[in-house]
Amino acid sequence: MAAERKDIRSYNYEELLKEMQDIGEKPFRAKQIYEWLHVKLADSFDEMTNLSKALREKLSVNYEIRKVSMLERQISAVDPTEKFLFELKDGNVVESVLMKYNYGNSVCISSQVGCRMGCRFCASTIGGLVRNLTISEMLGQVYQIQKICGERVSNIVVMGTGEPMDNYESFLGFIHMISDEHGLHISQRNITASTCGIVPNMLRLAEEGLQITLALSLHGSSQEKRKKLMPVANKYDLSEVLAACDTYFEKTGRRITFEYSLVQGVNDTQEDVQELTAILKHRNCHLNLIPVNPIKERDFQKPSRKNALEFKNKLEKNGINVTIRRERGSDIDGACGQLRRRYVTARKGEPDESLCND
Ligand code: SAH
Repeated sequence: MAAERKDIRSYNYEELLKEMQDIGEKPFRAKQIYEWLHVKLADSFDEMTNLSKALREKLSVNYEIRKVSMLERQISAVDPTEKFLFELKDGNVVESVLMKYNYGNSVCISSQVGCRMGCRFCASTIGGLVRNLTISEMLGQVYQIQKICGERVSNIVVMGTGEPMDNYESFLGFIHMISDEHGLHISQRNITASTCGIVPNMLRLAEEGLQITLALSLHGSSQEKRKKLMPVANKYDLSEVLAACDTYFEKTGRRITFEYSLVQGVNDTQEDVQELTAILKHRNCHLNLIPVNPIKERDFQKPSRKNALEFKNKLEKNGINVTIRRERGSDIDGACGQLRRRYVTARKGEPDESLCND
């Protein structure tokens, strides 16, 4: 059997220079190919018209540009939001979201197929983790969306399915490549990655010399409450997680965003206001409240608009820098894995795991 062709989009600039050198090509060829892949967003070697036919053939014997193909596109009628379902080479599917703002186009990408973190209110985790995404598959989501919508993507949030700190190496490679001046060159300051709080990798990230924003999924105002919603809290105590956030801020100067999914009757009480205030008051941070998006598999309800506003106002009075996340694309399948989940369950008789070809 022929050896599997290597995914050429996964090489960073230096690695591609080396690869091309190894097959006897000059450095300027690597520069041209990198530009085709990461600036002109080519999907095939045939598009690379400034390369000789012989070189294109040589490339396609050794390498492939692994497909991230659009299966579904949902365009919201209520705001400029679109959701995409992409199929990967092995048949797995991931979802991504495009949100257009007046400051630019923001893309929310997935970092894993499924997730093993088990947060109680999250649809992404229901079928467990299928596999990590590669650097190329994370880039591919952004590239496809930029091509489909025909406008530059200026901001990235790694807040789709998956836990980026559980796919650390690929996530890091993705950040370097998406912000590389040889590629799309998206400013790291316009990138936010969200974690449920995997302390050792948050501390690693603090040392990488990056300028991305780290968002922490807090969701509970005490260790006990967090444990009820997030199994990861059994592994890392809230005090350790907060200390890791402080380290990230000290090392990078980037203010932490805390995310707090508001669940009616669970974490929206007066006691939560007080505990949250105690945790956040002395920290240079921002709190983003997300009224929980109910999923049919779980019995969590979002608070009324009035209660959510009251919760926010009380925190504001206590000096907390807080916003309620504006709901986007409410008429199309909610984010957080619900589009993929619907697709996967619709493939009759095929449980989640059967999508894994590994
Ligand atoms: N694994 C990362 C990214 C998850 S998605 C993390 O845990 O941070 C981004 C945010 O959406 C997280 O804060 C996540 O907890 C939250 N979220 C997931 N499902 C949700 C739902 N149904 N309603 C509201 N927020 C949800």
